Amino acid sequence: MPSLITAIIGLALVLASSAAAQDRATFSVGSATAARGQKAIGVIEVPAGTDAGTSIPVAVFHGSKPGPALALVSGAHGTEYASIIALEKLIGLLNPAEISGTVIIVPLVNIPSFERKVPHVNPVDGKSMNRMYPGKMDGTQTDRASFLITKQVVEQCDHLIDLHGGDLDESLRPYSYWTKTGNEQQDRISREMVLAFGLDHIIISADRPKDPQASRYLENTATTRGKPSITVEAGHAGTVEAEDVGALVNGCLSVMRYLKMAPGSPSVVEQPVWIEKVVPLASEQTGVFYPLVRRGTYVQQGMKVGYVTDYLGKTIFEARAPAQGVVLYICAVPSMTKGATIANIGVVARE
Ligand SMILES: [Zn+2]
Repeated sequence: MPSLITAIIGLALVLASSAAAQDRATFSVGSATAARGQKAIGVIEVPAGTDAGTSIPVAVFHGSKPGPALALVSGAHGTEYASIIALEKLIGLLNPAEISGTVIIVPLVNIPSFERKVPHVNPVDGKSMNRMYPGKMDGTQTDRASFLITKQVVEQCDHLIDLHGGDLDESLRPYSYWTKTGNEQQDRISREMVLAFGLDHIIISADRPKDPQASRYLENTATTRGKPSITVEAGHAGTVEAEDVGALVNGCLSVMRYLKMAPGSPSVVEQPVWIEKVVPLASEQTGVFYPLVRRGTYVQQGMKVGYVTDYLGKTIFEARAPAQGVVLYICAVPSMTKGATIANIGVVARE
């Protein structure tokens, strides 16, 4: 019965390959190769192409015991500082001797953004480094970096957490995203990860691309490849506050406990606020923005949340909440242009 034998060999290969992924003698990401029980540092070298190359730093903690591979990535937006500092701290905190499995940490994807203090995009090519996945080698720097992160980080991990926060111009209240794919098993694990992370406001995203070849976002690149993953956000407007950094560090550690990569129990959110929809409020005018509410405020539909004046003080636009909900973030600076986002309102899901 050759077909049965083939099936058995096939099954054995599948089992062997998944076991091998979790129980390798060494684990390499870019130039970092860690032996079991060791930490290694290195870079993901993005070669020059139509524009300059870049070297993305990476740390690999290959635990002394087998377990899943968890990737932690921040700094796609290089001025979302709290998330970058959180992963810098984790690099100093983790001990491979105590880890079951492997932790890959990429703390700063977008080095040109960080160094030049340019929010939202990679100043080398003007692209967001969280919109071009899975990337390609014959594109600009962001495309090439995205491709290599897909190959080196996403394809080698079992779970991924993408860390963000409010950018230089965003006053953001901490929240996370849970992607609902429709795959029950995967969604159950990612839901437990997002609850273990500990941020109590959770956006349910059900509209992310399903095609792994057009995944756009980093987390979605892992999610569309069958790896339960989440995105988290804390920090705002260029600040590095202990509360935000602590929430991100503790969240990663708690997810490691949930995945049984570290001893102890996760601290799970007891009363999550599920956000079913995010409604953006855009400015209809260019001018000077004045906020009237703070991040995290609950607003009624139609409530005035800010206004825009011309450059001589005359009010030219009243910004009113497009829905009832929580101000997930509000513009943190006076610079305002027509069509730019004033605030994002999160609509709380009904039970
Ligand atoms: Zn971001």
